[in-house]
Amino acid sequence: MLYKHNIHTEGHMIHIKDHKTLNMFDPLPFLGPKRRGLMEASWAKLFRDHVLLTLPVDKIFKNYHWAMGRPTKELYAMLGVMILQQMHDLTDEEAVHAYAFSMEWHYALDITDESDQSSYLCPKTLWAMRFLLTQQNLYRVLFESVTDQLAKVFAVDTSKQRCDSVHIFSNMRHLGRIGLFRHTIKKFLINVKRHHKDLFEALDQGLTDRYLSKQGEAVFSMVKPSESIGTLETLGADLFLLIERFKDHGQIPAMSSYQLMVRLLKEQCWVEQDPESQVQRVSIKANKEVPSDSLQNPSDPEASYDGHKGQGYQIQVSETYSEEEETKTLSLITEVIAEPAHKSDTDALIPLIEGTQKRGLGPEKVLVDATYGSDENCEKAKALGVEVVSPVMGKPQENALPLTDFVLTSEAAVSACPQGHAPVKVKHKKGKYIVVFGVQICSGCPHLKHCPVKSGKKGYYLRYDDKALRLAQRRAQEKTPEFQQVYRFRAGVEGTISQIDRKTGLKYLRVRGLPAVSFCATLKAAGVNILRAVAFRNSEKSENSAPEQGNRDLLDLIYVFKERFSYATSPFVAKLIHYLGLNSLGGQILAKVAC
Ligand code: SF4
Repeated sequence: MLYKHNIHTEGHMIHIKDHKTLNMFDPLPFLGPKRRGLMEASWAKLFRDHVLLTLPVDKIFKNYHWAMGRPTKELYAMLGVMILQQMHDLTDEEAVHAYAFSMEWHYALDITDESDQSSYLCPKTLWAMRFLLTQQNLYRVLFESVTDQLAKVFAVDTSKQRCDSVHIFSNMRHLGRIGLFRHTIKKFLINVKRHHKDLFEALDQGLTDRYLSKQGEAVFSMVKPSESIGTLETLGADLFLLIERFKDHGQIPAMSSYQLMVRLLKEQCWVEQDPESQVQRVSIKANKEVPSDSLQNPSDPEASYDGHKGQGYQIQVSETYSEEEETKTLSLITEVIAEPAHKSDTDALIPLIEGTQKRGLGPEKVLVDATYGSDENCEKAKALGVEVVSPVMGKPQENALPLTDFVLTSEAAVSACPQGHAPVKVKHKKGKYIVVFGVQICSGCPHLKHCPVKSGKKGYYLRYDDKALRLAQRRAQEKTPEFQQVYRFRAGVEGTISQIDRKTGLKYLRVRGLPAVSFCATLKAAGVNILRAVAFRNSEKSENSAPEQGNRDLLDLIYVFKERFSYATSPFVAKLIHYLGLNSLGGQILAKVAC
């Protein structure tokens, strides 16, 4: 533990303040009681008391040398700034300003002196720390340490959780297909011009002008819908020409802008060889043939497309909830996963559960919508000891007789149909069931139209497997009042998402790229947990303050009584306390009486 030795040594380069030792002097001596009250009710007090010390500074030590380089800023404060900037949705400039001048920030981060070394933060230092946390995925550790600490301090019950996703727009421009081709080719040509001038000058000037001159660009911005396919074909031909021209060049195929062109061609175009002339021709794919994980903008290659919500990213959120409406509990966001927008919600449920379980915050029951609640997910979650409560995707045929209307044995084999007829044969192999009903019975049945049996050689066949049975049972369960009573709490997660957006600007981020989006979204969730904890703590305090005040008035009354009648002794007061049920204040009362 080298750092423990070094942290307090004069002149070493890693600066860590000892926040555990109490300040000898009041850090806010200039505050009157009203402003002090405001500060104590603010997020700053909770951050200072419960969050600051748990920040994982030990995880970033390896990036610094204790004796070489420039001295670091105080590392607890630096990690704290990362959370506070996202929590308050501040630009870098605003964050630097708040670090320098905000009393709340100074109190929260335990900055006690006004020197530039302590209270000034250069924007470059802010970028460097963000870069370091993003590169090494340490913002996850930051989120986890904040959340785990709040869960511990407020004894949060994590047995019941709910999940949902939200779409996020990164700081990229929405491009149509023409714009996408144009920007990708332009980006490549700019790079070639910058790094390989000779190769750039050897290109056809008509082609380079189309992308790099103002007049050329104007051609692509005024395309009528009827001419868009023709324009796209010209762009496709240029794209193919450039890829072919440089594919055997030593360095150019390794350029990221060249690779984006190759990706664009593969995702948006067909390249076919003319059987007669043997010339390769480029044609443009129809919109529906373009995959949803295709390139949306060359400045943000990881962003993808969701058919309902558009271009960008999404985050998966899991949070605790309580079914006890009368008892107030703190609800915490326990897990956040950022991913490109095209990813299916179905694949997110198990990682969300596993993420919380790893940290001891796992649920016993999870409420999710139908896209998460596939049979595979329910079975996997069951193996992890978690019950998934979700409706089944899709609707069954109207008036169709469900499998659950058949009478089943304990081994899930059908022993009678909804009309009470026994089958003539039942076969069960490898989880699949084949049940045969007599021709005469079914052919005359008034329910045949809605019955899942199908006519076959030796009768009417009912085929099902364990999965179909499980889904039928879940569908039947969905209609019960018990299910409705439990499932009604799922909708609350949408309020949470809207709260994250309102408080921290989650839906429209200032950054591009999955690592940066993930960084912001994860720390915004940590920020929302802090704000929720503050609101919870304050509501608890205000609830307790009324009876507490009443008891204090009584305490004063007893004090007066004691002053007036000196013969009133402690035993009498103790009896009075017990009689009035004021045991929590008893110690104070007796102490006062004893004075
Ligand atoms: S169609 Fe046959 S199996 Fe279906 S309810 Fe009627 S009798 Fe029973």
